[in-house]
Amino acid sequence: MFIADEQAMEALGNRIGKLLQSGDILYLCGTLGAGKTTLTRGVLQGMGYAGRVTSPTFTLMNIYPASPPVFHFDFYRLESNELYELGLDDYLGQEGVSIVEWAEIGADLLPPEALWVYILLKDEDYDLGRVVSFEARSPAAHLLMERLQEYVDPGY
Ligand code: ADP
Ligand code: MG
Repeated sequence: MFIADEQAMEALGNRIGKLLQSGDILYLCGTLGAGKTTLTRGVLQGMGYAGRVTSPTFTLMNIYPASPPVFHFDFYRLESNELYELGLDDYLGQEGVSIVEWAEIGADLLPPEALWVYILLKDEDYDLGRVVSFEARSPAAHLLMERLQEYVDPGY
């Protein structure tokens, strides 16, 4: 799907956010500045959360008191031993929604059962749009994809 600008990326997130259920996991893959945090911001809006949403690049995780709560990870600076210290099992698939930026960095250690979202720059140009694709790797993710299709404009 082609996402022309920041607003469109937030709108996509918004749609996803309205469909998410507790236990859902989103893995966001894409380079620095691709739009992972922008998408996450939209997701939180869609869930009715009005607070600030920023990349947890240094803290590794933010918890937003949305309903259900959202665990927002960013693995950009992750060292492999930190993944264990984080105690991911306490969050992923538990009561709440988990969103992981830079999931490709932890891919060897992450359970793959999630909705994988890939954000690509067009022509390596940050000012052009993004191409977003999805890969559903769990029953819950398949369901989410199906419900998302119903929302997608025929124009996409
Ligand atoms: P990431 O979390 O992947 O590092 P961010 O969401 O923080 O990326 O930043 C994306 C940047 O790219 C923002 O400054 C945004 O305004 C800009 N941008 C330009 N075009 C788009 C687009 N089509 N989708 C998302 N962001 C875009
Ligand atoms: Mg980010």
